[in-house]
Amino acid sequence: MSKLCPLSIKRPRCTPLWRALSNHWDEILDNVCWSLGNDGSWDVPLFSFIFPSWVVQHIRSNKCPDPSDRPDTCVWRWSPKHNFVTKLCYDRMIDNSHQPKLPIWKTIWNLQVPQRIQLFFWIAYKGRLLTNDERCHRGMTDSPTCPVCFHHTESIVHALWDCHNTCTLWKSIIPPSLNNNFFHINSNKWIESNIAYNVIHPKFGLPWKLLFAAIVWQIWKRRNEFIFNRILLPNEYVLRLSSNLAAFYAGNSQHTTPVTHRPIPAQWIAPHQGCLALKVDAAVSQSSGIAAVGGLIRDNYGSWKIGFQKALGITDVLQAELWAILLGLQLAWAQGHEIVEVQSDSQQAIALVSDNSAASSSLSLVRAIVKFRQRGWMLSFKWISREGNQPADALAKSANALLHSMVTLDSVPTTIQELINKDRLGPLYCESNIN
Ligand SMILES: [Zn+2]
Repeated sequence: MSKLCPLSIKRPRCTPLWRALSNHWDEILDNVCWSLGNDGSWDVPLFSFIFPSWVVQHIRSNKCPDPSDRPDTCVWRWSPKHNFVTKLCYDRMIDNSHQPKLPIWKTIWNLQVPQRIQLFFWIAYKGRLLTNDERCHRGMTDSPTCPVCFHHTESIVHALWDCHNTCTLWKSIIPPSLNNNFFHINSNKWIESNIAYNVIHPKFGLPWKLLFAAIVWQIWKRRNEFIFNRILLPNEYVLRLSSNLAAFYAGNSQHTTPVTHRPIPAQWIAPHQGCLALKVDAAVSQSSGIAAVGGLIRDNYGSWKIGFQKALGITDVLQAELWAILLGLQLAWAQGHEIVEVQSDSQQAIALVSDNSAASSSLSLVRAIVKFRQRGWMLSFKWISREGNQPADALAKSANALLHSMVTLDSVPTTIQELINKDRLGPLYCESNIN
């Protein structure tokens, strides 16, 4: 293993690129994990002597290595497929510092203006707009002074509303309802409150948030025009252009077609005649992290054939969903069924096992599931809504966390009888945004 993933890659004589990599090797190691293949097998009772129980729970939830599988290998830790994706690496490095859950983020992206203006507001909100003050901080210039009036430090506040010409422009247009607060808040509050203010401007007959966005953008463009071309556009011109643009944005937003919702079956979906439905699901306890799976096989009339439950140990949701599919397939195969449709409500799991390159997936569970496809039966995979998978969900949730061997259920457990009956009433429909 140390050959595949050594603790250090430092060499006395190497290229600058190799030296840079070796300096950051520890960080790289933090981002990889092992994908188990054919190297050995679990001896859980022995582990229990060596490791604490929570470690054993982690080991137990991994698929027992298969001698016919490929060798162990190092894989990228943070993507579902364990393949390296630059975007995910970047997300990891910035550690979600862009805070996508901030309400302002949503407000900015919902504003019906071109994306470059949305980005402009986001940069201004984060205090990164390249005013002279910011450029001075970054060592790009010696003077933080306003390049238009030469009197004050050019902060974001100064550039967008406080410089004398700009201040005059705003005073001529602020809606009366905002008069008292407009200049007396910090720049972030100023952006937040104005881009969310949907009142119609009495003079222009346009939503204030769109007019505001257009004016701020044009003020910034005017400032740049002055710096680069020494042309200072008058306030009247900026206002006329901004109101025309705001009217255009307002017209566009009225004609935006609403997102359509296609109804999808929320309950029992019968497979074709002669085909069995294998419905599987997984549940992971939020408190302990222990996962369990459950599933059932029904014929095309909805009759119960067999069900199963199993506790897995500590693992994540995707791994557990894949376990549910694999264990369901093992059961269906052992029962001698020949045409089976696997139904899971995990889009990610269904996508992974249906992928053309699934046979070489970094996830051993995906590779094991693919092997089932190659057997002499007809197997298909289908994503269904969570609402349509309630009996399997209930089985997964009610699995005993201490029972690590699979429990098979020859008849419908009383605890899910009601859910099974509800399914039989025929498909109900739920709204789901699956466009
Ligand atoms: Zn100024």
